Amino acid sequence: MIDHEDKCHHCGLCCRLSDEQTDGTVKPAGTACHLYDQSAGRCLNYRYRYIVNPYCLSVEDAMLIGALPMSCGYVQGAKWYKCRVESPEFQRRAGE
Ligand code: SF4
Ligand code: SF4
Repeated sequence: MIDHEDKCHHCGLCCRLSDEQTDGTVKPAGTACHLYDQSAGRCLNYRYRYIVNPYCLSVEDAMLIGALPMSCGYVQGAKWYKCRVESPEFQRRAGE
């Protein structure tokens, strides 16, 4: 069994997507989700994140629409994965 939590390095980039992600496009927002705690690098309400933020995506859904940055731990090794967020920060690969 894969422990998803181990793969997250809490960069917070996936918590900076605009609501427009629901119309098929993926764009970084100027600010992070109001539930993202910048100093701790964590969601303030992780357990109920899908309830308190209807735009919050599961890792699986985020991967399917290309909403995770190339540096994200979840996409490492997923050769099929293509990030669709047009932002250098999101396109940068881990280790670069
Ligand atoms: S982009 Fe990936 S590594 Fe960064 S916070 Fe989101 S899930 Fe974690
Ligand atoms: S609700 Fe979702 S998008 Fe917002 S901080 Fe929590 S995990 Fe990130």
